[in-house]
Amino acid sequence: MVDSAGEWDWRILQGRLPQHILLCLAAMHRPQQSFPIDRVGWGLWDDRRFSIKSAYQVRLDHTDRLDTVDPTWKIIHHFRGLQRIKIFLWLVYHKKLMTNDKRTRRHFTPDNKCLVCIDMVEDVDHVLRHCPSAKLVWTVLINPMKRSEFFSLPFEQWFALNLRQQGDFVRELKDWDMLFPAVLWNLWKQRNDRVFNGVTEEWGSVVARSKWFADSSTAAAATLRIQHAAVASNSWCPPEDGWVKLNTDGTRSSIDGRAACGGVLRDHTGTWIRGFTRFVGRCSVVEAELWGIGTGMALAWELGYRQLVIETDSVDALRLIEQRSKGGGPFTLVHRIHVLRVLDWRLVFSKIGRDSNDVADRLAKLASYASLDTEFFDESPL
Ligand SMILES: [Zn+2]
Repeated sequence: MVDSAGEWDWRILQGRLPQHILLCLAAMHRPQQSFPIDRVGWGLWDDRRFSIKSAYQVRLDHTDRLDTVDPTWKIIHHFRGLQRIKIFLWLVYHKKLMTNDKRTRRHFTPDNKCLVCIDMVEDVDHVLRHCPSAKLVWTVLINPMKRSEFFSLPFEQWFALNLRQQGDFVRELKDWDMLFPAVLWNLWKQRNDRVFNGVTEEWGSVVARSKWFADSSTAAAATLRIQHAAVASNSWCPPEDGWVKLNTDGTRSSIDGRAACGGVLRDHTGTWIRGFTRFVGRCSVVEAELWGIGTGMALAWELGYRQLVIETDSVDALRLIEQRSKGGGPFTLVHRIHVLRVLDWRLVFSKIGRDSNDVADRLAKLASYASLDTEFFDESPL
């Protein structure tokens, strides 16, 4: 199915295969002698290896998740405070906390009642909201006009509304998404101290400690955001003198799976050497990224450059290339890159932030879907 030049023979293929299969075939590198023999792979994951994690992810992707899953789980997942409080929130909402009610069911204790209230069953809602020791704490924080609603909502709704910061129950709404979980956490600690150590912490101290928790977590989250912003704003920089830098990117339409790649070679002064764009057919975005890297490397080699920095924003593509160098990796595209890698030149692969890879991204989006030929640009078309 290849012509005398070793390329896919479209004259034969076109009459025999439907268009969507032809496009999938186009995105595969044509067979070469140096490629290892074909193997069966797990088609639903980028690196063609089966893992439970990948099967689970595919299952999730095929489920209409947003419509079926309670959004509160998502709120817990995105909680920006301490990890141990996040896990605690998960336990609370799952009603997995070891309250006396739960302990009795497991025969850890004969009494399911609250130590403070004596005649009340101690479940999650009781410990964290209705027990007098909890009520004293909430009363300080909650707007008096909203108190009856706060204490009468069904537990799940109460928990979700407060986490979302839309509860409008508090005197000061500032950072309630941090303070509310911190109070729950400290109420639970207060209860454990009482049950297991015989110590009763005053409500004032629970409030003060919760506020301190919330304040420090908010400050830590803000610092983290600034750090992320600093990393993301790292702009593109030229390579050292004597080196050439290749920036590549891949793009894929989520509607029909058509994918393209683009890239540019620039020298140590940042001067444009040559750019390219190419429609590659139908494939995953990581395959499009690999097309970009392979095409750019071949171009740099042909132009005679022997010291090349390759920058991509695709961690997955870099991972697949790395796997190949350790003997793994099933993609023909990765093999093609490997064939180029072992030539006599110096290469550095590097990850770049998406924002800084903007030129390659725009080149990839320039690709015309009418042809599978690579289009080259001696000057920037952008
Ligand atoms: Zn109680």
